Amino acid sequence: MKKWRVFLIPYFARSHLIPMADFAGLLSAKHPDIELTMVVTPGNTKFITTSLDKYNDSAKHPMQILTYPFPSIGLKPDVETVGIGNSAESSAIDEASHMARPGLEQVLQQHKPDAVIADVTFSWIAAIAADLKIPCLFFAPLSSFAMLVLNCFQKMRVRPGLLDHVTVLGLPGPEIRMPVLELPPFVLEENYALNVESLYKAVLDAFGIVVNTCRGVELEYCDEFEKTQARRAYFVGPVSVSCTMYHGNIMERGGEGETSCLRWLDTKEERSVILVSFGSQCHFKSAQLHELAMGLEGSRQNFLWVNVRNADQSDEWIPEGWEERIADRGFVVRGWAPQLAILAHAAIGAFVTQCGWNSILEATAAGVPMLTWPLAYEQFINEKLLVDVVGCAARLWEGGKRSTRETERELVPRTVIAHTVSRFMEPEGEFSSVHCKAQELGAVARSAMADGGSSMSDLSRLISDLITAMENKTCQ
Ligand code: UDP
Repeated sequence: MKKWRVFLIPYFARSHLIPMADFAGLLSAKHPDIELTMVVTPGNTKFITTSLDKYNDSAKHPMQILTYPFPSIGLKPDVETVGIGNSAESSAIDEASHMARPGLEQVLQQHKPDAVIADVTFSWIAAIAADLKIPCLFFAPLSSFAMLVLNCFQKMRVRPGLLDHVTVLGLPGPEIRMPVLELPPFVLEENYALNVESLYKAVLDAFGIVVNTCRGVELEYCDEFEKTQARRAYFVGPVSVSCTMYHGNIMERGGEGETSCLRWLDTKEERSVILVSFGSQCHFKSAQLHELAMGLEGSRQNFLWVNVRNADQSDEWIPEGWEERIADRGFVVRGWAPQLAILAHAAIGAFVTQCGWNSILEATAAGVPMLTWPLAYEQFINEKLLVDVVGCAARLWEGGKRSTRETERELVPRTVIAHTVSRFMEPEGEFSSVHCKAQELGAVARSAMADGGSSMSDLSRLISDLITAMENKTCQ
């Protein structure tokens, strides 16, 4: 049988590299005659090697890594990933993403793969693939709902200062109305409509799009997305489940994490600990970290708080005597932790999340209810889906001024954190319907990934469509 060479091209952020590596693991498990190559810049290899190593243990054709130079934008060596350095460095990386084009073009021209699957951020890859006459698929680590809503904003051309709220028009389901402050800042930029229009056009013109989501979780939004946004759409998630189901290893995603917290969780009762994680990119200022520390203490609940990062790079946020006072029921991991393994642990009863889509899907698959604390990007849109449409989460703070812009948001006060967390952890309390919904959705998400489930059927369809296109040498 012919061996097909497919190149996978992730974006420069851990929350894009991780699901792309998981998706690669799924593809290699389901179709051993596809030889996969991950194309990354040197500074990003360390975030995928641990994942690929475990997938390669059982792969017929071990996945390869091919590097191309990170665009030269005057950053320190090795700072090539959004969220690793400070926020100015992250913005510079974001803005420089189109400068990756010449390097990637050279790699693709030289190696001439049979197909390419690129992060949706790199929409210009479609033009390179068209020149090479190979099919181009995009990979979206985003919810269908968020992509639909963002496309509506593009059509509405929302401008700053005109309105307090915007209502999203033309989507199925309940009315979606959002404060302008909760929109990603780029939506209000002058050139947003233009950029997004060209991105959505590139996706529409491409062979198709692979979305890390699951039909049973997003329901009519997947149908709508499939009907309106792409030639072919494949909903193959939650891809994190591939670690458990197909490779039996949920550790070491996105790099090595601190594992002592798992032993600490072993000592705790079932569903008695709240996980607090704000993903791979968030830095809080000392004042907010201080409020959160006091709030968690005040909740009197067990908590595990991971990847605690301070924008001020000091320890002044730690309340005096706090570490001693919370020693028996709180565990703090300053750095990277094995979040997927933590969410799968029986001791975890709830999750305070910034509403990054990967974290949401990981919690969903584990049946863990969420308390939402969105901060940036499309996170408020994801919150809307979870809280107001699906019902597997509640807002941590309903009041106060919330915003995607740090300078415009209020500190979430300790009293609110303490009160909401303690009420949310009560098993038969006012949030019991949210807990039930989360468990129900967990079963839906896991069964989608089992043989015959919707995500596995979409994956089989994707493989068969792609192989036909590669055989016939058609791009569309
Ligand atoms: N993550 C992890 N350990 C940490 C923090 C985060 O493994 O200590 C992983 C998490 O499981 C998820 C990803 O990093 O896969 C974060 O992605 P998400 O979409 O939630 O948010 P972002 O990082 O873009 O804010």
